[in-house]
Amino acid sequence: MIRKLFRRVFLRGDPVRRKAETIPASKHGIRRDQVSPGARRTCEALQKHGFKAYVVGGAVRDLIAGIPPKDYDVATNATPDEVRGVFRRSRIIGRRFQIVHVMQGPETLEVSTFRAAHDADTLKDEHGRVLRDNVWGSIEEDAARRDFTMNALYYDPTDEVVLDFHNGVQDIQRKTLRMIGDPRARYREDPVRMLRAVRLAAKLDLRLDPQVQAPIRDMADLIDNVPAARLFDEMMKLLFSGHAVDCIRRLRDDGLHHGLLPLLDVILEQPMGEKFVMLSLANTDARVRADKSVSPGFLFATLLWHEVLASWEVRKKNGEPPVPAMFGAMDEVLDLQAEKLAITKRIASDIKDIWLLQPRFEKRAGRAPQRLIEQPRFRAAWDFLVLRAESGEAPQELADWWGDFQDASHEEREKMLVPDTDKKRKRRSRGRGRKEGGAKVSDGDTP
Ligand code: ATP
Ligand code: MG
Repeated sequence: MIRKLFRRVFLRGDPVRRKAETIPASKHGIRRDQVSPGARRTCEALQKHGFKAYVVGGAVRDLIAGIPPKDYDVATNATPDEVRGVFRRSRIIGRRFQIVHVMQGPETLEVSTFRAAHDADTLKDEHGRVLRDNVWGSIEEDAARRDFTMNALYYDPTDEVVLDFHNGVQDIQRKTLRMIGDPRARYREDPVRMLRAVRLAAKLDLRLDPQVQAPIRDMADLIDNVPAARLFDEMMKLLFSGHAVDCIRRLRDDGLHHGLLPLLDVILEQPMGEKFVMLSLANTDARVRADKSVSPGFLFATLLWHEVLASWEVRKKNGEPPVPAMFGAMDEVLDLQAEKLAITKRIASDIKDIWLLQPRFEKRAGRAPQRLIEQPRFRAAWDFLVLRAESGEAPQELADWWGDFQDASHEEREKMLVPDTDKKRKRRSRGRGRKEGGAKVSDGDTP
């Protein structure tokens, strides 16, 4: 018993439970009307039923930092079943980490029950990663389990105070990301926190506390034990944070990218493709910040394009015909990523569509351009070509030609077509059998 206590306090570095400091509106600066109506209604309804309920986590942090939150989490002492009982439009989701989705008009709120601290009985894998997590606890325990001090803030929209368990408000004001408890122990429990640290620092323009920063380099290998689907989600959050360029810069400055994820190595270590990748990330950041839609398939296609080109070249040099070489290159590149990142089937197919359309932009004769323009993924593929041209990898004139061709009338398009010098050769070869795989890639040159 005493040994267990000793281990818990001194060796495992588990975060210490603390009493909250109550911060009034004059100090935290959040006005009730800044909080979404759905989040307020959810807290009020739970409180009316005698439960405690707070807006928690990233939303409180963002509001104090002056950034509009993109979603709201609510924490309560009601169990998931009790929450279900209060809201007709709600459902329990998750197993390892049960939460309730409460629908309020157009909003969906994530409501979670205060969770207990981990102890020696918590189910973990052999590296210390927590595997199961549905033991309810006190608000102090719930706060101590969160990752960074500024993520352990609880806002009560009824009395408008913030409960601050680990000096998070001060850390926001000082722009320093600090971990609750011992960073090494917390990274071991959940290695994804390393990626979260970098993402949050970029989003809120924070400096990493040296203790948060220092262990990342040594501990990056632990990311290998995280399930691929979770890493994929985390990578999506990083790439679509609106601060991807800054995240990547921070990773590079700190030398943290090596071995963290093959996708990051690709982004950061391709001399040829660097300009292209950075343009694409900057483009994505601008779209996210302007609240425009972004397509994961498009972004992943750009990030991996130069890998595909390199592998395609090698295969062609080794005598593979261009079309099967392209298919081989695409599969090789995507399979390598799939070892760590579970890229969904749908996104993989979007990526391939965009890649396969690239060589077809070379054909500006006959019926090919019209057929290309009718492809459902034409627009994305053309945007991709525009980026390639901007980075100097494809001729600007080609991208412009396709821009004009799309906008032109039927007659104008006819005039734009270049004479088809290949026609005779093609007609002759047609009788000798079909192209392999019936592929959409041209058998032409490098795109
Ligand atoms: P954002 O929503 O801006 O991406 P966030 O901090 O809200 O950032 P979420 O993934 O929405 O991130 O998590 C909500 C809250 O849950 C966090 O603020 C934090 O308190 C807690 N949390 C999330 N992930 C972890 C983790 N890996 N370890 C500990 N606590 C976490
Ligand atoms: Mg959040």
